[in-house]
Amino acid sequence: MKSLRVGVLGVQGAVSEHVEVVNDTLKIMGINGVCETVKNLNQLKEVDALIIPGGESTTIGRVAKERGLMDEIVRKAKDGTPIFGTCAGLILLAKEVYDLKVGVVRQPLLGLMDIKVVRNAFGRQRESFEVDLNIPVLGEKPFPAVFIRAPVIEKVWGKTKVLAEFEGKIVAAQEENLLVAAFHPELTEDRRLHQYFLKMAL
Ligand code: GLN
Repeated sequence: MKSLRVGVLGVQGAVSEHVEVVNDTLKIMGINGVCETVKNLNQLKEVDALIIPGGESTTIGRVAKERGLMDEIVRKAKDGTPIFGTCAGLILLAKEVYDLKVGVVRQPLLGLMDIKVVRNAFGRQRESFEVDLNIPVLGEKPFPAVFIRAPVIEKVWGKTKVLAEFEGKIVAAQEENLLVAAFHPELTEDRRLHQYFLKMAL
């Protein structure tokens, strides 16, 4: 079998953490593959699966657009390439995004997924926290979810399925080849969400 190439969009944010976790998870799963940072169009064209990491969605979107990466990500997504957006990556994948302070945002978005997202939804009192999250598709054991200035999904429609909720807010979802989490799965030891994503690419 051809080796699986997984890319992590390397513009800004938690890039190296995902690369390390994916390489570790590929090994655990016995998959012949490699994960690398994707910084330009040629590298992006080569990957079979892509992670858009957490960071600052405005910066990631703006720089990715300047480098001509946004259109290619949209093209790949429509071709069925699995894409996993965490935190800022979730924001970028959404069709609708707004900020509690400024209303509808004007930042560049991929606009691929049928979700409506609120940026920085937990407010200043809870900029960062960890909770045990119930994610039924990963089994019974709760998942340690680290939230950092996290968004939430206010609503989903179309083919999008809710995968996890916290305090009544949607924090993980999937629409066919698109997977999103409002938290940072690359910052804890639990590899089940990365495993779930890699299975989508097999
Ligand atoms: N608050 C960030 C944004 O709106 C996302 C935070 C994160 O990715 N940890 O882009």
